[in-house]
Amino acid sequence: MTEGEGGCLFCKIARGEIPSKKVYEDANVFAFLDINPRNPGHTLVIPKKHAATILEMGEKDVGALYERVRYVAAGVQAGTKADGLSIVQSNGKAAGQVVTHVHVHIIPRYLSEGPVSLEGVLGVKKMADETLDGIAASIKKSIGNGSEETGESDFDF
Ligand code: AMP
Ligand code: ZN
Repeated sequence: MTEGEGGCLFCKIARGEIPSKKVYEDANVFAFLDINPRNPGHTLVIPKKHAATILEMGEKDVGALYERVRYVAAGVQAGTKADGLSIVQSNGKAAGQVVTHVHVHIIPRYLSEGPVSLEGVLGVKKMADETLDGIAASIKKSIGNGSEETGESDFDF
């Protein structure tokens, strides 16, 4: 057990120390209903191994997590007769993450509710072509490091 993990709400849920409405569990992941559902069937999928954000997880573990997200999502869609699904995962306070244990939201969506797209969360920011080139170059350079460490950003927001 890592430091800080003992007090983590979602670690406790995964260990069964705090009750939850479990819908799926295997050796690596745990899935349960969100206590404040944005729609009926709103489900959270978490890795059993504690990590605050996906950048703290290895690429293979993230891949394995999302394989199971796809598996659980099919059950959520069929079990709720949803018209669609929003699959959302926030990393860090700035992104709106409240619980600091990686969790993927699977939210049933319905055409009848007047769908909110990404624009409903963040407005479009028009940018000049040269600005986009600079941003793409900075990200490309960081990815090209071949390391999970991203280094300094070359542009200002
Ligand atoms: P986020 O804002 O992405 O960190 O979302 C955290 C989610 O965890 C929220 O949607 C909460 O409703 C949900 N949540 C918090 N505590 C519990 C709990 N004990 N059982 C189930 N869901 C929870
Ligand atoms: Zn945890």
